Amino acid sequence: RVNAILRALVSDPVDNLMIEELNSNHFEVSYEPTIDAETLKDKVKIFDVLVVRSRTKVTHEVLEKAERLKIIARAGIGTDNIDVSSAKEKGIHIVTAAGSSTQSVSELSIGLALSLTRKIPFLDRKSKENIWKKDTGTELYEKTAGIIGFGRIGYATAKVLKAMGLKVIAYDIYHNQKTMEEIGGSYVSLKDLLEKSDIIFLQATLTDGGAKLISKNELGMMKRGSYIVNTSRSEFIDGPSLLQALKDGKVAGYAADVTWNEPPNNEWENEIISLENVIITPHIGAQTVEAQKRVAKYTVENLIKKREEIGL
Ligand code: NAD
Repeated sequence: RVNAILRALVSDPVDNLMIEELNSNHFEVSYEPTIDAETLKDKVKIFDVLVVRSRTKVTHEVLEKAERLKIIARAGIGTDNIDVSSAKEKGIHIVTAAGSSTQSVSELSIGLALSLTRKIPFLDRKSKENIWKKDTGTELYEKTAGIIGFGRIGYATAKVLKAMGLKVIAYDIYHNQKTMEEIGGSYVSLKDLLEKSDIIFLQATLTDGGAKLISKNELGMMKRGSYIVNTSRSEFIDGPSLLQALKDGKVAGYAADVTWNEPPNNEWENEIISLENVIITPHIGAQTVEAQKRVAKYTVENLIKKREEIGL
């Protein structure tokens, strides 16, 4: 059957391929990658589809104005920028591009881990200041990596860590024995993971119960001088407690692709970022040529599947 043309608002920056794919699949696209919250509330009412990444906050207020909206497409994975329960109440469907950035995010995790343990960004900064500083680092070989959230990204990272000679343990609320056996690792409790890991990778999905998984108490259980790499969400960690642990040397270093506010805008957050044993990248986990193409492809494929499923 011939599909009707659906009006789609793309309210975050996306690869050109996404716009092309939408245009050639019966969507009429309005591309407004820098739209602010107020303008979004004004404009959203005429659209059938809203395509977002993580910048746009799809709040209850936005959804109240979205009279025609049928599908929200998250061109990525985490849906924590969408008021999922309000969307559900209004019968609005949500599709994602799950799996599109697995490889990119896990490669970034490994990069952040090596950058931390060998102080690569710090020593590069020194070299640029004409300071020839031979700081000592630590090897990852034969250390224990603790993965919190052993899903797609956790598994992809674990495969590389295993090849690098690390022992892998993981904490997850869901167990996938098959993939765990494949990397020769084991599931442990959060307490065991905190006590045994030399480097912790936060790769869980933020769900309702997940916030503040690592507060003062949990930081206290960690091995002195261990590292944390976070490519998932900052909400998992209590920021002020982390700041203290970094200053005390309890945590030797923190590398993250996410901050509590994006961009960061409060005092303790900026203080964390300013520390020499902290590395922050501006949420670039999926920011590769390959992942963006995959995001475009998977998002549009899932949108088409959903519109067919609901007969739109
Ligand atoms: P996934 O669904 O394959 O895996 C997530 C895992 O986390 C699952 O195994 C789930 O059971 C587990 N989990 C959920 N809540 C938990 C909790 N409270 N405690 C322990 N484990 C928990 O997802 P994925 O594709 O591997 O992505 C993981 C996360 O990475 C995403 O949700 C997103 O937040 C983040 N991400 C970041 C970027 C980036 O640009 N930095 C890009 C993509 C994804």
